[in-house]
Amino acid sequence: MEKVRLGKTNLYVSRIGMGGIPIQRDNDDNAYNVVRTAYIDGINFFDTAKGYTVSEAYLGEAFKKLKAEFKGFRESIVVASKSMSLTYDAMMNDVLDSIKKMDCDYIDLYQFHNLQPGKDYSGAKAALIEAKQKGLVKHIGVTSHNMDYLNELISDPLFETIQYPYNIVERQGEELFRKANKLDIGVIGMKPLAGGAIDDGAIAIKYIVNKDFVVVPIPGMGSVEEVINNVGAVQSKLNESDLAKIKEYQATLDGDFCRRCGYCKPCTKGIDIPFAFLCEGYYRRYNLQEWAIQRYNTMKVKASECIECGLCESRCPYNLPIIKKLKEAVKVLESK
Ligand code: SF4
Ligand code: SF4
Repeated sequence: MEKVRLGKTNLYVSRIGMGGIPIQRDNDDNAYNVVRTAYIDGINFFDTAKGYTVSEAYLGEAFKKLKAEFKGFRESIVVASKSMSLTYDAMMNDVLDSIKKMDCDYIDLYQFHNLQPGKDYSGAKAALIEAKQKGLVKHIGVTSHNMDYLNELISDPLFETIQYPYNIVERQGEELFRKANKLDIGVIGMKPLAGGAIDDGAIAIKYIVNKDFVVVPIPGMGSVEEVINNVGAVQSKLNESDLAKIKEYQATLDGDFCRRCGYCKPCTKGIDIPFAFLCEGYYRRYNLQEWAIQRYNTMKVKASECIECGLCESRCPYNLPIIKKLKEAVKVLESK
C-alpha cells in the first residue's frame, strides 16, 4: 500500500491506518487476526486510546505475537495512542501504561485526546515533553472536535499532528487540513465512516484518499472482512455511481448528523448534548452497547432532563432537531 509522510513527524504511514475502537467488542484472538491481516495487507499505522478499554491491551497481545512472527515488525509500524489526562502525573502514568500494555519500548505518536478550549493542560504538556526527551514517545499530537481550537493549536510547534473528524458528511475541516498541510503538520482523519452512519466503507475511504489534500483516515476495524474491504478501497478511484451515492448520503445525513462541534452548548440544564449523541452512536452503530451505556452513565445530567427550551437548536449551525434526537438517544441509553 502507498505510504504518505505524516507531516513533520517524518513518519511514513500507510494511506489508511487502523482505528482501535471496534476491536474492544471481541476478544484478543480476533484482535490478533485483524491486526495481522492489516499488517500483511500493508497497513502500518495503528491508533488507539487510553479510553478504549481493552484496545491497548489487545493491540499489545497482537504486537507481541507479530514481533515473533515477522522480523523487524516493531520498526515497520507506527503506534499511536492518546490520553485525556491534563496533569503531569496522570499523563506520565498514562504514557508508561500505554507502553506496557502495547508491549512497546516507545510510542511513536502520543496525542492529547479531545483537548478542549479553556482547559489547563500545562501539566500534561510538561509530561509529554519530558517523555519525548526520554524517548518514551517520539512525537506529540492533538485530537479535538473543536475546529476553531485546532486552528489555534497548530501554531504551537509542540504539535506535530492533528486529528479531527473527516468524512462524506463532516467536511467542515477541509480548510484547516489545507492549512495544516502547508505548515507540515500531519493530519489524521477520525470517523471516516461518520461513526458508522455511512454503511459503505469503501466509498467513504475512496472519498477521502482521492482528495487534493492529505489526510490519513483511520477507520475502526473490528474484523478481517472490514480490513480487506478497506484496503481494497484505497486502490480504487471514485466512479459515477459512487458520486451519486455520496450525494445521497449528504442529502440524508447532512441535517441529522451531530459533528460534535459543541456550538449548541451550554445547555440550559447542563446536558452534554454531543456526548449523548456520541454514546448513542456507539450503541446503535458500533455494536458496543455495554460500553456506550457505561460512558453515558458518567454524564452528570442525563438527556431525559431536557426541558425542550430550544436554545441549543437555535445555536446548532447544522439545524439538527436536537430535542427529537435526544429523545431517541434516551430510548436506548436510559431504557435499562
Ligand atoms: S448538536 Fe449541532 S451544535 Fe451541537 S455538537 Fe452536534 S452538530 Fe454541533
Ligand atoms: S432544549 Fe433541552 S437540550 Fe436543548 S438547551 Fe434546552 S434543555 Fe438543553
